[in-house]
Amino acid sequence: MIVEDVHYVRSIEAMRVLPGAAEAIHRLNKAGLKVVVVSNQSGVGRGYLSLRTLANMHRALRARLAARGAKLDAIYFCPHAPAKKGEAGCGCRKPATAMVERAVRRWGLSLADSFLVGDSTTDIQTARNAGCRAVLVRTGKGGRDGRYKAKPDAVCRDIGRAAAWILRESA
Ligand SMILES: [Zn+2]
Repeated sequence: MIVEDVHYVRSIEAMRVLPGAAEAIHRLNKAGLKVVVVSNQSGVGRGYLSLRTLANMHRALRARLAARGAKLDAIYFCPHAPAKKGEAGCGCRKPATAMVERAVRRWGLSLADSFLVGDSTTDIQTARNAGCRAVLVRTGKGGRDGRYKAKPDAVCRDIGRAAAWILRESA
């Protein structure tokens, strides 16, 4: 996670890049790793967030990171509301894996050599479902949301530590 978690981030003003996030992404960029955001944005499907606002937020996020030498190779998001009981899911809302698989296909990456960093058990479960490695960061929800039981491969204090761990594992 890169942006401070507020229940639904609805405005660019409310969006804050977490301390250390730009530096961490910069280091991953320099090492030649692809850095991709995969996020659930059900506010779109629920009608709280327009696609235009979301696009503006993504543009602002990229600009704030770029100002500190950090680049996102892609931002994927699921705009759908959660499936109701008995409905088929959309396939992209985490812990479903379509966004991760799309990133891996786009650059011919290997899932086993890819890492999903997140603060929620949903992120960890997504990594498990996709077959990539899971890094839990203790910022934000810090894995305390209790939704899924999946265990991470590493637990890191913040995104900076997570990047350091990934760089060691990828060396
Ligand atoms: Zn979706």
